[in-house]
Amino acid sequence: ATSEGEILGSLYSKGIKPDGVQKLSKEMVKMVCKEYEVEVIDAAAVRVEEMAKKKEMLDDDDLDKLEERPPVLTIMGHVDHGKTTLLDYIRKTKVAAAEAGGITQGIGAYKVQVPIDGKTQTCVFLDTPGHEAFGAMRARGARVTDIAVIVVAADDGIRPQTSEAIAHAKAAGVPIIVAINKIDKDGANPDRVIQDLSSIGLMPEDWGGDIPMVKISALKGENVDDLLETIMLVAELQELKANPHRNAKGTVIEAGLDKSKGPVATFIVQNGTLRRGDVIACGEAFGKVRALFDGKGKRVDEAGPSIPVQVIGFNNVPLAGDEFEVVNSLDIAREKAELRAEYLRDERITAKAGDGKITLSSLA
Ligand code: GDP
Ligand code: MG
Repeated sequence: ATSEGEILGSLYSKGIKPDGVQKLSKEMVKMVCKEYEVEVIDAAAVRVEEMAKKKEMLDDDDLDKLEERPPVLTIMGHVDHGKTTLLDYIRKTKVAAAEAGGITQGIGAYKVQVPIDGKTQTCVFLDTPGHEAFGAMRARGARVTDIAVIVVAADDGIRPQTSEAIAHAKAAGVPIIVAINKIDKDGANPDRVIQDLSSIGLMPEDWGGDIPMVKISALKGENVDDLLETIMLVAELQELKANPHRNAKGTVIEAGLDKSKGPVATFIVQNGTLRRGDVIACGEAFGKVRALFDGKGKRVDEAGPSIPVQVIGFNNVPLAGDEFEVVNSLDIAREKAELRAEYLRDERITAKAGDGKITLSSLA
């Protein structure tokens, strides 16, 4: 045991003179603890780590089995600033076409292969542009996006939904990359846009800030490769990881009723690996995974971290933003689904779009 007097004495001997009221700095506390061989736990740091684990859906058991995973991106910005055009360009040029005879269908997200330094790297785009989607997911506690790409038209500048998108990304703590679009247009003034962004707190990297800004033409495809490269660099800094060697969990990004397939949902697997035959609880729905389809509509056997996959085999249509997890038995899955249904009844959440298809934007 050490008396307060001894500790004070030791501090005095180091030239630190606490007056009994003054708080010690972190460094001083560490120094004192080291001297008396007491372990210091930085509560703030532990909290940050725990929050990171939660949002990444990681458990303690995962921490020594982590492997790199691809980044998941959302494109946001004001209407008509070119979100769909950018997504279309990337999809057309970077997603390999379906094999002849294969069914090509959108599943709400797709995998893009980006060649960087001779290596091919993967990233995943959510195909539901718009801050509504982002907001709706966040409102439901879902955190799927790793990076937000904010599109601003160089001939129009910052508009209300630009600011909203920035606010969403900031609130979620997601890194921002700005794509200044339509630089091919007469009247485009990308430097003016950069100036304006800096005045609302987005400081470009070129000016010593931390926001990468890339001038592009989504229509012509100009500099889109630069944008993708920038995305991969930002992703690398984030050190995104998950444990592929465990039961899957993740989030529903789109769901609906298919005429021939029945209830279908697109998942982003956030941790673990999802396989055919797995039993899942998913919001109010549950079931056994009957088949998995990739972004090209091709059957696959499994999907690992960050990978979007369409799933069939539920009793019911889940909601975008619902979490799913693989459990050990159908009984457990049913029980979880019932508990969730009860909770939702209490919350009185109704989020059905007119055509019965539930999308992220219909939740806004
Ligand atoms: P969204 O509402 O953000 O999805 O915007 P869209 O992608 O639908 O684009 C709105 C309009 O802007 C369309 O007519 C596009 O063809 C046009 N557009 C998008 N990107 C560019 C671009 O880089 N250059 C030019 N000139 N037009 C663009
Ligand atoms: Mg659009």
